[in-house]
Amino acid sequence: MADTNGTAFDIVVLGGGSGGYATALRGAQLGLSVALVEADKLGGTCLHNGCIPTKALLHAAEIADNARDGAHFGVHTELKGIDMAGVNEYKAAVVGRLYKGLQGLIKSRKITVFEGYGTLVGQDTVEVNGERITGRNIVLGTGSYARSLPGLDIGGRVITSDQALQLDWVPRSVIILGGGVIGSEFASVWRSFGADVTIIEALPHLVPNEEEALSKAFERAFRKRGIAFNLSVRFSGVTQDDNGVHVSLEDGKTFDADLLLVAVGRGPRTEGLGYAEQGLTLDRGFVITNERLHTGVGNIYAVGDIVPGLQLAHRGFAQGIFVAEEIAGLAPQTIVESGIPRVTYSDPEVASVGLTEAKAREVHGDDAVETLEYNLGGNGKSQILGTAGFVKLVRKKDGPVIGVHMIGARVGELIGEGQLIVNWEAYPEDVASLVHAHPTQNEALGEAHLALAGKPLHAHN
Ligand SMILES: Cc1cc2nc3c(=O)[nH]c(=O)nc-3n(C[C@H](O)[C@H](O)[C@H](O)COP(=O)(O)OP(=O)(O)OC[C@H]3O[C@@H](n4cnc5c(N)ncnc54)[C@H](O)[C@@H]3O)c2cc1C
Repeated sequence: MADTNGTAFDIVVLGGGSGGYATALRGAQLGLSVALVEADKLGGTCLHNGCIPTKALLHAAEIADNARDGAHFGVHTELKGIDMAGVNEYKAAVVGRLYKGLQGLIKSRKITVFEGYGTLVGQDTVEVNGERITGRNIVLGTGSYARSLPGLDIGGRVITSDQALQLDWVPRSVIILGGGVIGSEFASVWRSFGADVTIIEALPHLVPNEEEALSKAFERAFRKRGIAFNLSVRFSGVTQDDNGVHVSLEDGKTFDADLLLVAVGRGPRTEGLGYAEQGLTLDRGFVITNERLHTGVGNIYAVGDIVPGLQLAHRGFAQGIFVAEEIAGLAPQTIVESGIPRVTYSDPEVASVGLTEAKAREVHGDDAVETLEYNLGGNGKSQILGTAGFVKLVRKKDGPVIGVHMIGARVGELIGEGQLIVNWEAYPEDVASLVHAHPTQNEALGEAHLALAGKPLHAHN
């Protein structure tokens, strides 16, 4: 199968998730003929089983907390219960509207969609439903799946985020294996919905990829919310029966709960797709590319979660746009991985961009790094919201800001400015001279930069 002119498509994209559909949309915008092969639903994990439904759950969770805490603000409210059918209806409506919008967008850009499971059968050919589609360029974006541990089978009361998003009841108690982003977000939701939650994390901290100060503050906040966690300890086994799951750890502790959520990371979906057969280099299943996302084989590129690095939707979007522009000959600038913002959307939220203090010291040397913490205690809007937290800045001494790290309610919305600061290599003095609206949480970023520039306003010297 070829494009409408009877020749090969300019681009054949395998996988219609964040990375694949972004490639298709940008490619079509640049006048290229594009085929997009999708086995399930356009939008992929993020839209149907990831970002969007989890954030809808987190928003419902915030409303539950607000209802429970109304009296604190002098408002008579009461949390009478969680109607999961209602929550799921709201979640499905959000996903449904976005899905419809995306389908419309793909159609309006005249992208040819092939519904079916595709495999790479040649360096320029994808086969789907017995049909061969050829492309001058191939872009692989087949995404990821929820991983488990060896010997830990998913089924029944042992679930991953896929089943957790489909639950039509609120568990009374949950054990969560993994205190990274996904585990912490579900812990936050279920706690707000009234469940007893216990997290098991093998590393020394929750959200272990973040700045250590953020992880510690996050642990304090979770403890205050009554979320239990066990750090630096490994899971050893689980059994399940009609009453629930029975989890044991290597240190001998045991826990009983209604469910065990396995949130130990996501593996690349690359097996059995012909990648190795066509000569691609795979490392533990991930597709290895150069910094221009080229696989080193023919005109084959890879985007999104199958490429080692941050498994985030906006990274997939950026890589998709990059590859389409590369194919169109626009020679785009390569994507700097550390400049990609990272957000954990729990209560409290954690948001960061750029280097942690430890990484900055490793890269630039101990004496060449300066840091500053600005406490949200001095930020009017955060006090109004009743949130604790802080902004931590990392700068090169006498140089630009190279890391912005934040914790507190809604700080995910502040990372937009954080990423401009880091990626535009702004100096604290540049940001300090820009006016931030009062009272906003955003102002905390302004104040932090004022302080780093040596002229703190609502902070002690
Ligand atoms: C619970 C959860 C919450 C998340 N929250 C966030 C968040 O808040 N923010 C964020 O940035 N990221 C979040 N993520 C991560 C985000 O979903 C992924 O990084 C993103 O979806 C990766 O995009 P992708 O295009 O690489 O793959 P995917 O979105 O997985 O898409 C791959 C697509 O390829 C299709 N496919 C696979 N194999 C074939 C084949 N052989 N033939 C045809 N089609 C095929 C699949 O059906 C799928 O549609 C979350 C993930 C999870 C699981």
